[in-house]
Amino acid sequence: MRLQLSGHGASRGSALGRARVRLPHALEVVEKRIPANLVEKELRRLHDAVDSTRGEMQVLRERLHGALAKEVGEFLDLHALLLDDPELLHGLDELIRAGRYTADYALRLQRDRLAAVFDGMDDAYLKSRMDDLDHVIGRIHAHLNKRIGGPKGVAGDILVSDNVAPSELAQLQAQGVVAIVTSAGSTLSHSAILARSLHMPLVVGAARALQKINDGDVLIVDGASGSVVIEPGPEDLLAYRQRRRELAKEQRELGRLRSKPTRTMDGVDIVLLANAESGEDVAQAHSLGASGLGLYRTEFLFLQRNELPDEEEQFRTYRDVVLGMSGRPVTIRTLDLGADKADRTGLVLGNEDNPALGLRGVRLSLANGELFDTQLRAIVRASGYGPVRVLVPMVSTREEMLAVRKRLKRVAEKLRRQGAAVADRIPLGAMIEVPAAALALHSFVDIVDFLSVGTNDLVQYLLAADRNNDALGELYSPLNPGVLRLLKHIINVAGEYDIPVAVCGEIAGDAALAPLLLALGLTEFSLHPATLLEVRKAVRGSDLSALKARTGKLLQARDRTGIENWLKSASPLHG
Ligand code: PEP
Ligand code: MG
Repeated sequence: MRLQLSGHGASRGSALGRARVRLPHALEVVEKRIPANLVEKELRRLHDAVDSTRGEMQVLRERLHGALAKEVGEFLDLHALLLDDPELLHGLDELIRAGRYTADYALRLQRDRLAAVFDGMDDAYLKSRMDDLDHVIGRIHAHLNKRIGGPKGVAGDILVSDNVAPSELAQLQAQGVVAIVTSAGSTLSHSAILARSLHMPLVVGAARALQKINDGDVLIVDGASGSVVIEPGPEDLLAYRQRRRELAKEQRELGRLRSKPTRTMDGVDIVLLANAESGEDVAQAHSLGASGLGLYRTEFLFLQRNELPDEEEQFRTYRDVVLGMSGRPVTIRTLDLGADKADRTGLVLGNEDNPALGLRGVRLSLANGELFDTQLRAIVRASGYGPVRVLVPMVSTREEMLAVRKRLKRVAEKLRRQGAAVADRIPLGAMIEVPAAALALHSFVDIVDFLSVGTNDLVQYLLAADRNNDALGELYSPLNPGVLRLLKHIINVAGEYDIPVAVCGEIAGDAALAPLLLALGLTEFSLHPATLLEVRKAVRGSDLSALKARTGKLLQARDRTGIENWLKSASPLHG
């Protein structure tokens, strides 16, 4: 019988397919004991499954490339760490040895024990790590039962689950899953961001999904509106086909914008720069006509390994990025490790109470002078091959920028003396993502050449809301009157001092929010190439002077709904 559920649209696109229901923590294992003489064999079975899981993760890790390599990779690293956790493994051995349980049941018991510990924690972030643990345990369980390679026959299916981990998204897509519906989750989670990059339709927060949807039910999912139709009728099917035609037309139209300027209806040119972290991103940015790279994240070079990359390796990587953009400026951000971007090299301290407020970004670089100089040398050498700008993450004070400027100058002078081809000028910029730096911009505008606003972090520090914590729901959001006022302040001050300013957080890649950023006076956007054409289309359909006439109204909005209403009323002004 036809039934319609509603959740939140987290990644656009629509899909028609059979439901593949994945029940939460599906370790439905009955209690079973083994005789003493089979204990060693059972232990071997468990260890083989753990080894196979580790191997599977390594293979997945090595296969990662492109836009998602960094983010998915970080989750896989986290899962690999959990897999090596002595608490987990030792506990399992003990349960098999002393309790004589089967490996499957031991896994179940150990999961429940750890879940109880996680549940008792006050820290919501740690609590939410239980999802990661479940994911790892689920993989071991699959190997114990030789259900490797994920569920069979999912091609064309729509996964219905309580939640989905960022690290499994790419794999699910490769297996042919065409859309995902989750009963929990938020539209701002990492999974949602990744689903959007992958163009995988996703509906989150469809609370009754697991009760109402049965395995094999036919579903129509709309990742824009958040609607899920179970056992659709003829009218639904017609509407679905119509929607698909519209989407295909939209894609064809977007394709035509590749060589078009990013110009508003009233003739103002907007700069679209790309965020990149891999060769594929660079190639895509180049082919879609990005004006340059506004954010090249260097962390990925450091994250996927146990030893630090040396100067030569870094130089070759940066040089190839510069060559890949053939003369368009490339903004290389210095290492932004720390907090949720932990590494395996021992650089990042593992014992900070508050890593997001700890030794991360430029703080970490300045505390490791030699490492920082090595990176600066590599970047400066790459500047001999095309225009390069250096961007510094997590700046809080003038002193930090002065220290970086001094180092950069010293490194460049030494390289010139050594005969290297170094650009005459390497602009130095600051990421604005710490509220104090945003408020006190006037205190260091004289020592920076450009600014880039990292709204992902700025929002989390301004609202004291962890960007990775789904439990906070919609609290972590740029659609907040305080965030908008601070953005306006940054754009105004940069304008007064004639310093170019871009926004490089996720907000810049959301075409629906382009009118808002334009109204605030932003003229440079830096975004993932996956959404570059959509944002270009939004800009081309915008009447900038009409939007600016309404900036006051936008800043008067008192809450998220007020801002959303402003966006709705602004839509006739952008096509
Ligand atoms: C940001 O914080 O907005 C940003 C672009 O940097 P990252 O997401 O790499 O922290
Ligand atoms: Mg940041």
